[in-house]
Order: sequence, then structure tokens, then C-alpha cells
Amino acid sequence: MPGEGSGAASVVIVGEGPGRLEDATGRPFVGRAGRLLDELLRQAGLARADVYITNVIKDRAATATTPPRDRPPSSAEVAACLPWLRAQLDVLRPRVVVTLGRHSLAALLPGAQIGEVHGRPQRLGSRTVLPLYHPSYALHNPAVRPLLFRDIRVLGRLVRGLGREGE
Ligand code: URA
Repeated sequence: MPGEGSGAASVVIVGEGPGRLEDATGRPFVGRAGRLLDELLRQAGLARADVYITNVIKDRAATATTPPRDRPPSSAEVAACLPWLRAQLDVLRPRVVVTLGRHSLAALLPGAQIGEVHGRPQRLGSRTVLPLYHPSYALHNPAVRPLLFRDIRVLGRLVRGLGREGE
């Protein structure tokens, strides 16, 4: 599942990997986590159509069928999928990449700890990476929800800053 959104988006959102619903529909973030993501994007003044949403893991087959079900991706699976994500970023050329959760963060910024960098923009070459907690994590840990809503305001500020650059 490659992802979906605007090919002209200056913001690319990178989740972990497709779940059952995403696999069935071929669309990223269509379940409960997706509804929370939509809400978060709205807080940042964005709609789905303004961004491109994808995942590190492109194919659910391995992580869904190997016990335990829906386990996190292995480093070998991440390594196998990473060239596709890098190629997508090369084509889309976003200014800001939002990573959702620790796996997506580790794929793009190895060594960064989500507990330390969430909500704090990081540099990756010419791009800004904004690490956020994964919406699914916030659904399972209500205490994380306010942190996520605080951190997403940083995305709003980054996007408004991009708008002003051309003035
Ligand atoms: N969680 C993810 O990381 N990606 C999706 O597409 C859906 C849920």
C-alpha cells in the first residue's frame, strides 16, 4: 500500500504500517487511529487532501500473519521497506515529514528517542522532521492524548511558516 494524498504536499505523514482495515481498503489510516489523525490534522489547519499519508511498512502480510498478530515490524522488515519510503520522499520532496510513533522515527532518524524528541522539529538534510506519538498509542494510553494535541500545534506553526517563506 503506497499511501495517498497530494503529490504537491509540503507535508508527508509517515505511520508504521497498514492495519487490517488499511490492508482491505488499500488506504492508510482509515480506522480509529485514522479518525484521530484527521482530528489532529484539523487542529494544525490541514485536511487529508493537503498532505500525503504513507507508512514505513508497505505490506501487511508479514507483520499480520506471524504470531503475535500485529506485532511491531522487525528491523529486517523496516530495512526492506525503507528504500520505497526514501524513493517516495525523493519524488514528493516535502518540506516537513511527520513521523508517527517510534518505528517511523527510528526508520528516518536512527537513535532518536520518541520520549525526548516528540513535538520538537529535527533536521534531516534539507527537511524538517516532526516526531509525534502514534495516534494508536494515544488511543491505548489516554495520558498521551494531550501531549499529541500539544505537539500537533508545532505542525501548524511549521506549515504557517512555510506559507510565509514565499511572501
Ligand atoms: N497505523 C499505521 O501506522 N498506519 C496505518 O495506515 C494505520 C494504522
